Amino acid sequence: MGYNMIDLNKDVKYVKMVGPNRVKLLNKLNIYTLKDLITYYPRDYEDRSKPKNLYECIDGEEVLIEAMATNKISEMHKGKMTISRLIVKDQTGTCYITWFNQGYLRDKFQPGKMYKFYGKISVKGSRFEMNSPIHEEIDQKRNTGKIIPIYPLTYELKQNTLRRIIENGLLEVKDKLPETLPKYILQENNLWDINHAIERIHFPIEFSDFNKARERLVFEELLTMQLALLKLKNNHEQSLKGIQFNKDVNMSDIINILPFKLTKAQLRVLEEIDRDMESAKPMNRLLQGDVGSGKTVIAMIAAYKAVKSGYQATIMAPTAILASQHLESFQGILSDFGIRCELLISSITKKKKTEILERLQNGEIDILIGTHAILEENVVFKNLGLVVTDEQHRFGVKQRSTVATKAQNPDIIAMSATPIPRTLALILYGDLDISIIDELPPNRKKIETYAVRKSMEERVNNFIKTQIKEGRQAYIVCPLVEENEEMQLKSVIELAEKYQKETFCEYTVSYLHGKMKAKEKDEIMQKFKDGEIQILVATTVIEVGVNVPNSSIMVIENAERFGLAQLHQLRGRVGRGEYQSYCILKYEGNGETTRQRMKVMCDTNDGFIISEKDLELRGAGDFFGTEQHGLPEFKIANLFEDIGVLKKVQRIAFEIMEEDALLSSEKNKMLNELVKEKFSTRIEI
Ligand code: ADP
Ligand code: MG
Repeated sequence: MGYNMIDLNKDVKYVKMVGPNRVKLLNKLNIYTLKDLITYYPRDYEDRSKPKNLYECIDGEEVLIEAMATNKISEMHKGKMTISRLIVKDQTGTCYITWFNQGYLRDKFQPGKMYKFYGKISVKGSRFEMNSPIHEEIDQKRNTGKIIPIYPLTYELKQNTLRRIIENGLLEVKDKLPETLPKYILQENNLWDINHAIERIHFPIEFSDFNKARERLVFEELLTMQLALLKLKNNHEQSLKGIQFNKDVNMSDIINILPFKLTKAQLRVLEEIDRDMESAKPMNRLLQGDVGSGKTVIAMIAAYKAVKSGYQATIMAPTAILASQHLESFQGILSDFGIRCELLISSITKKKKTEILERLQNGEIDILIGTHAILEENVVFKNLGLVVTDEQHRFGVKQRSTVATKAQNPDIIAMSATPIPRTLALILYGDLDISIIDELPPNRKKIETYAVRKSMEERVNNFIKTQIKEGRQAYIVCPLVEENEEMQLKSVIELAEKYQKETFCEYTVSYLHGKMKAKEKDEIMQKFKDGEIQILVATTVIEVGVNVPNSSIMVIENAERFGLAQLHQLRGRVGRGEYQSYCILKYEGNGETTRQRMKVMCDTNDGFIISEKDLELRGAGDFFGTEQHGLPEFKIANLFEDIGVLKKVQRIAFEIMEEDALLSSEKNKMLNELVKEKFSTRIEI
């Protein structure tokens, strides 16, 4: 503990070796401060601590050898390439080392002197070879002689450079980091102190160090999240009295006139919502249900109850087109009950908007459906009682709480189509009550899914043509281009052009990507909906729930680059009408995991099964890395590997909060700080 003499928030530019150029590169990695720097954790390690004798080396392994140069470098030229060769020896063998285009090495090695080399070794009979190894003089210790951390994503920064910068950062804070966890927690759970943990996570001396260091940091990260969630929940529950909607308004009045029979799951969820709405406690409920499971009608029935109890309701959707779609379905049913719905999106005329705002304030509008436009300050309700956000992961917590401030403790339903395993949901959405629709309406046709390779391209294209001839439409999703939006746009446009000019020249092809203006996107989507466009080439922007019942084909290029959950979301764009629909996953690569992932997609349409498999096959790091899950991001914890810690920490958090709900006692002061910090940065729930 003790005094904090170091400023962890100081700009990373003050760290040794960080000049103006490197600052920019570090910022790209989201490293802005000294603290960001020392908490940029390695993703892997290489053991360059223990040298091996050549005869012990196994073909293909990464090893450190200590050997004597037997010659000066000899150079060969092949075209423009310079090839440098060095032969080295230890007591057990001879190794042939090669570098390409490293002319500056020419005089680096002196015959008779010892050096260290680290790299991948190949063993062919009794011949050892290394290409482009890392090298050092025998007594140097910069790049070898220890366990070396490997950092995730470094862009143009070299691993060596980043490592040395982090080393410098660590030097500044050595033994001076203020402890962040209370002593009693450290002791009871046998955890390392913060200084030890931070130092050893970067530079473990033994591999077991890494486990202990990691355990401590994961524990802290997960405990903080759990405490923050519980605090949120306490706040909700202790907040003033919520609305008690009228017990005499029966949801069944509307259920009975629906054109379809609700599924058991829908009915169960409605019961849960009805109970919450009638109780005095403000509802704060997450409604999870796979694409097409029928969440909209749930929102509609809840809104019906709110309106008939004398309140207004609002539905917020992430896109204008989705909002319009909701308006249509709401009006189709609710106008018979004399309920007045309106649409508020940014593209309506000023005059119309003024009129809507006025009627809203007078209580002449019962249900306002719209986009972010609803959040604007001048949108004032007469007596808002129910707030629904659709595709909740598209909205930040802040935005959701903004709508909620337009009323006095309204009931809130957050709808989400991203199924996550129930155990995780319970933990991660600790502050919300959860309702799950785990059943699709009957008679849904399974979307036939095929995983194909490049060689099948022509057949796929012919298949698309046959479908279009029958009057259907197709989506083609472009490969994800990692980390580079510009390139992604380029690939969308190029692909669309190629398809328009060559492959599908007899049809209308258009494209859609995230950088287009909302209005442009809506126009294209509308045209697609109206059947003026037959083939829509797009990025993942189409994953959000727009309904085009006539589209029956979803082609996903380079499907191996997408997460399963995302593939599932995309697939959910088809199969929304009466037609048999198809999803074609084009993939490359021979990896076993890729093969298994494609198989999961072909085998099942169940989002919950897919999300479990996704976790299993990729690990949570990737699973939750995709922003579409809208789950909290962790610096070090991996929800798949660390599920054990997560459960333990959840129990501990409960115990702490039970005893000290406000975290106000002296011994929990530090925990309170951690939670506060969590709220002040971002908490994505
Ligand atoms: P999502 O949960 O993805 O938002 P929607 O609410 O858009 O799904 O529902 C998808 C389609 O299923 C809509 O056309 C809706 O009218 C229909 N639907 C919803 N519930 C049922 C049901 N119980 N039986 C038949 N069709 C239903
Ligand atoms: Mg929906």
